[in-house]
Amino acid sequence: TSGRTPLMAGNWKMNLDHLQATHLVQKLDWTLRDGKHDFGAVEVAVLPPFTDIRSVQTLIDGDRLELKHGGQTLSEHDSGAYTGQVSGAFLAKLGCTYVIVGHSECREYLHEGDEAVNAKLKAAYRHSLTPIFCVGEGLEVRQAGEQVEFVLAQVEAGLAGLPAEQAKSIVVAYEPIWAIGTGEVATPEDAQEVCAAIRTKLAELYSGDLADGVRILYGGSVKANNVAAIMAQEDVDGALVGGASLDPVEFASICRYRD
Ligand code: PEP
Repeated sequence: TSGRTPLMAGNWKMNLDHLQATHLVQKLDWTLRDGKHDFGAVEVAVLPPFTDIRSVQTLIDGDRLELKHGGQTLSEHDSGAYTGQVSGAFLAKLGCTYVIVGHSECREYLHEGDEAVNAKLKAAYRHSLTPIFCVGEGLEVRQAGEQVEFVLAQVEAGLAGLPAEQAKSIVVAYEPIWAIGTGEVATPEDAQEVCAAIRTKLAELYSGDLADGVRILYGGSVKANNVAAIMAQEDVDGALVGGASLDPVEFASICRYRD
């Protein structure tokens, strides 16, 4: 992770109502503080459902917590006749730092293609949100050994037309679909292979300096007992954590992987 501040981001998916969210954030913060967590050394973020964000924001602001928060997706539009969608402007007003873009579940269930992902990345930057841009191959692609080409094509399509001033702050999350929610974690070497290839691609698209500064996360069945080996890889700068982020003690242990 040379020089890059690791980020541990909890993607709650469609779990926890706003009351449960408040409990989880309090317990997470308490557990981290109890362990004297250095939030400057390893950044911690929660990504709750939209309906929880106001409550989470109130708690974080009111108690001056060092946790960051964000959304799980956003509309590519800023406002208008888009029933059911949520603008990045609204997320920004709720103090969000991050927003996930292109999660495989949105690509699959909401039929988000690379063009929509690209438009959403641009929308995130219009509202000063930092995107956590997700890419990753399915099982068939992995079995065919084509994971690097597949993921790099997603990276290139997602970033099309994005200027360096924006791309330099992006967070990329490599999430092999076959490892999401399956308990089947990629080996540290599998994660490193693709994360390193993403960094090389960023250097080609922009510059070596930009690529060196971008954080690349791994996601897919990260738990307290496998995170350290993954974080030991040179090009892995954090984790996007689904299931294990719903347990505040487990997630706090993930954030404290250096202990
Ligand atoms: C995710 O959905 O981003 C994820 C990585 O999920 P899990 O940790 O449950 O595999």
